Amino acid sequence: MISYRVDGAPAARNFLKGYHVMTSPEFVQISMAAAMTVGLKPGLFFRGAKLHCLNLLMLCEGGCKANCSYCGLSRSREKSDTFIRVAWPIYKLDEVLDAAANCSDIERVCVSMITHPDCVADILPIITEIKEKTKLPVSVLLSPTIIKKEDMMKMKAAGADKSGIAIDAATPVLFDKFRGENVHGPHRWDKYLSCLKDAAEVFGKGNAGVHFIVGLGETEEEMIKMIDHVWKEYGAPTHLFSFFPERGSGESMRKQPPVEQYRRVQLARWLINNGYSSADKMTFHNGKITGYGVSDAVMNEAVESGYPFRTSGCTGRDEKCAACNRPFGNERPSEEIRNFPFAPDTEDILLIKKELVKY
Ligand code: SF4
Repeated sequence: MISYRVDGAPAARNFLKGYHVMTSPEFVQISMAAAMTVGLKPGLFFRGAKLHCLNLLMLCEGGCKANCSYCGLSRSREKSDTFIRVAWPIYKLDEVLDAAANCSDIERVCVSMITHPDCVADILPIITEIKEKTKLPVSVLLSPTIIKKEDMMKMKAAGADKSGIAIDAATPVLFDKFRGENVHGPHRWDKYLSCLKDAAEVFGKGNAGVHFIVGLGETEEEMIKMIDHVWKEYGAPTHLFSFFPERGSGESMRKQPPVEQYRRVQLARWLINNGYSSADKMTFHNGKITGYGVSDAVMNEAVESGYPFRTSGCTGRDEKCAACNRPFGNERPSEEIRNFPFAPDTEDILLIKKELVKY
């Protein structure tokens, strides 16, 4: 019997009372931001932010079998109801999709697998139902440890047009430290990269993205070179996250990276993924970036536009910015915004300029 928090979903609550296990494809977890956006939860976002991607997390009996030490889903985490900083209530899939179909703010739906063998087959009816009920574009956040290329082909045939792979750590050593043998976890760096190659072949260059988390102990140089590598090798854009300590996880005491470090990596990522520069044109000193390989004019225009500091992720109606904008997924609303879910204003840009040059 699993013991997820059930909040605001009468059907699911009754199911729990009847001692049935709530699992996908019938049930999914959705982010609190998504629940608020589609009207299943009350609440407004700070500064009027709007969520444009409905993120669904698959539910499997016994939960995720991996053991990533920074993650809110890992099998050894103390009991908690949060993941990526916020609570993820459980709903019936059809209830969520009915609400999404009536919400004009939503431009994309993302289905996240967890590391559980049931996900491989159970994701297919979820994708099919999303397409039938909402017609929205669908991303799949893949779990490389449990899937093969044929599985991705079936997901694409069911209607998914983009994929993401959360490599998270920027180097093989850090990957093993937080996700692999070091934590008795099943994930392997080589498998993640071969899965990325397959995903790029199945979904097409530009449609197979990678998640990286800044602040797991890597240098700016290591992160930027990895962002550059996956872009050149697989055409994979990077979707950037800033580390946030998950309560109860093995890394709950780790500090967030300095915002200055995050800003510099955000800017470098944007310049690389938009074809303005590459890691070999950039300069580094003691692991920190000192030059971006672009003219002052390009640099000024990039910073003033605010685009480099907006959330990076799968796009929706606007190809220039992410539908998956994850409002306040990387910080508390009382803290400085790291991934802007909307265009930064003049005051934000002034602060960002100061941060970029502070070492
Ligand atoms: S960027 Fe967002 S929509 Fe795309 S795969 Fe990652 S979580 Fe899903």
